[in-house]
Amino acid sequence: MSISKRDLESVWHPYTQMKDADLAVTIVKGNGASLYDENGNKYIDAISSWWVNTHGHAHPYIAQKVYEQFLKIEHVIFAGFTHEPAVVLAERLLKILPGNLSKIFYSDNGSTAVEVALKMALQYHDNLNTGKNKIIAFEDAYHGDTFGAMSASARNVFTNAFQSKLFDVCFIPTPLSGKEEQALCALEDILQSNQAAAFIFEPLVLGASGMLMYEEKVLDLMIQMCSQYQCITIADEVFTGFGRTGKMFATEYCNHKADVVCLSKGLTGGAMPLGVTACKQFIYDAFLSDDKRKTFFHGHSFTANPLACSAANASLDLFEKENTFEKIKIISQLNIAFAQNISTHSKVKEVRVIGTILAVEINTGDKSDYLNEIKHFLFPYFLKHGIIVRPLGNIVYIVPPYCITEEELNYIYQIIKNCLEEIK
Ligand SMILES: *Cc1c(COP(=O)(O)O)cnc(C)c1O
Repeated sequence: MSISKRDLESVWHPYTQMKDADLAVTIVKGNGASLYDENGNKYIDAISSWWVNTHGHAHPYIAQKVYEQFLKIEHVIFAGFTHEPAVVLAERLLKILPGNLSKIFYSDNGSTAVEVALKMALQYHDNLNTGKNKIIAFEDAYHGDTFGAMSASARNVFTNAFQSKLFDVCFIPTPLSGKEEQALCALEDILQSNQAAAFIFEPLVLGASGMLMYEEKVLDLMIQMCSQYQCITIADEVFTGFGRTGKMFATEYCNHKADVVCLSKGLTGGAMPLGVTACKQFIYDAFLSDDKRKTFFHGHSFTANPLACSAANASLDLFEKENTFEKIKIISQLNIAFAQNISTHSKVKEVRVIGTILAVEINTGDKSDYLNEIKHFLFPYFLKHGIIVRPLGNIVYIVPPYCITEEELNYIYQIIKNCLEEIK
């Protein structure tokens, strides 16, 4: 029996309705932006394997660094013990992260990076007895799949079944074009109640809810407002971090910087799971006490796994060694040109670009929605043409590894254009 058939017998896949799921494609190797299946078919990984891959698949430099680390120490408890890869990575991240952050707390994925941020913010206010305990978030947000992260995320098909078990969050409108004033007013209203502990946001682009984009000016105002009310700002850069939006971190576009930053996806170049929650000194200080109850009681078995930290350090090396920001600039320019090229197409409702992210919202007559049926046409269409995309309903987007060639990108653009012609 093929791996794909055996898979169906024993494996349950994420975000997949298994009842009518096609057999999963068995990938046997990767190289650069390409993946290969067991029959030798080649696919361009246009979504960086769920937005994580930055320098290409099976990168020999990252592999070498992880291997070298494995021969020294593969894992060690991180309470009471430490290791060089974690310390070096913390030092390097603090140097490049925007906004004078002072401490790095490790976990092992994006959802946990968000959980840690929310718990830090809530316990900060508890330790200092400020009485503030409300969380503010955008109504279209996606912050992960654990309960805290779900609570701070949009109430939609992803979270409906758990509605009664999610904690209350003050949702404000996402400041999309035309809704900026409304969003700012809603934020100010909540801040004036003096109960807001933290505001968590995806900077400039809300990924999972459909690559929704908004202006840096309004985010800048929001961060500024929060700081006036001692409301902790949490930038969820799990998706936007590490070059995605054209800068290393999306909050670099703003003058005012967040108090806490969450990182994961691109952190290890997409090679290993790792999460980071970085915070400013004043937050860390609120946990220093002779009263042991003020300790931050949080940690994961695999906190700061040395292999993952080595992969992250190797990925940071590659940003320099491979001139990655030159590549990011070229992708960004090509994206903008292509967006202009198709923006007036009758099947295009809207096309959005920021840096290496390009999203085409397809006009289907129905409203834009994750369950829009057109994705069942789109995914196989692209796969047949050797491209991996995973449309969010009627939104086709690309988030390529930065090593993608101009030729590969142009091919993807051509297939998107052809695809638009095929839609009835
Ligand atoms: C993917 C994502 C998460 C969750 O990360 P996981 O590693 O999938 O748990 C959190 N926030 C944002 C903005 C994301 O895009």
